[in-house]
Amino acid sequence: MIAASTALLEVRNLAKRFGGLAALDGCSLALEAGQITGLIGPNGAGKSTLLNVMTGLVRADQGSVLLDGRDVTTVSSHRFPALGVARTFQIVRELSSLTVFENLLLAPRLQSGEGVVASLFARRKWWAEEQANAQKAKALLDRVGLFRLADHPSGGLSGGQKKLLDLARALLLEPKLILLDEPGAGVAPPLKLEMIRLIRELKAEGVSFGLVEHDMHLVGELCDCVHVMAEGKRLVSGTFEAVSRDRRVVEAYLGVAA
Ligand code: ADP
Ligand code: MG
Repeated sequence: MIAASTALLEVRNLAKRFGGLAALDGCSLALEAGQITGLIGPNGAGKSTLLNVMTGLVRADQGSVLLDGRDVTTVSSHRFPALGVARTFQIVRELSSLTVFENLLLAPRLQSGEGVVASLFARRKWWAEEQANAQKAKALLDRVGLFRLADHPSGGLSGGQKKLLDLARALLLEPKLILLDEPGAGVAPPLKLEMIRLIRELKAEGVSFGLVEHDMHLVGELCDCVHVMAEGKRLVSGTFEAVSRDRRVVEAYLGVAA
C-alpha cells in the first residue's frame, strides 16, 4: 500500500545508476505547493539527475515520482508541460543563430494543431493559436527584460540573459511548478537581482518552485525550505539558516565523511 502524498511533487526512494556510479541512491523529498524549495549540495550530489527524473527526461532504476499525489514515475518528458510542470536547464540549450523571439516560439506548446494541422477545419484554430503564442511570447520577453533584444541572435546574449530567456520559455505554458537548474550560474550581479525579483513575483502569483542553486545568497533570499543533497540522497532539510549551521552540511561541502 502506497501512502498518500500531500505535497505538490514528491519523490520516494529514487535510485539511478550510470554504469558503476550511483547518481541517485535512495533519494526521498518533497516540494510543497506555494513554496520555493531549495535543492542544494556539492557538485555531483545528484541534483540535476533528480530534476531529470522528476520531469521524465531520465527514467529512475527504482522509486517513484508523485505529482499532486498522482504517480508520474513513467510519464515521458513531453507530457510534463501539460501537467503544469516546466523546467530550466543548467546549461541553456538555445539555438544561437535564431533570434531571441524565435527561440521562444520554438518552446514546446499546448497546441491543438499537431496531427490535425493538415485538416482544413483545424487551420483557423491553429492560426489563432500561433497569433496568441506570439503575443504571449512578446509579453514574456517584456516581463524578463529581453524585449529590446527580441530580434537579436540569441547567441549574442550574456549568460544571465540566456537564463532569463530559458525562464521565459518555461513560463510560456503557464506552469504551476517550475524546476530551475542553477538560474544564478554565470549571471552577472544586476541580472541576478532581476532573477530574484522575477521569481518572487511569480511565487506571489501562485507559482511553486524547485530551485537547484550554488549561489547561497540566492538560496537565502528565495527559499522557504531547503533540502541538502549529498551522494544521491537527501542529507538534511530545513530553513536555509538552519541547514547552513548544520555540521553535516558543512562536512558534505568540504568532502569530509560525516
Ligand atoms: P549535480 O547536479 O548535483 O552536480 P548530477 O546529477 O549532474 O549532479 O550528477 C550526479 C553524478 O552522476 C555525477 O557524478 C555525474 O557525473 C553523474 N552523471 C550525471 N548524468 C550522467 C550521465 N548522463 N551519464 C553518466 N554519468 C552521469
Ligand atoms: Mg547539476
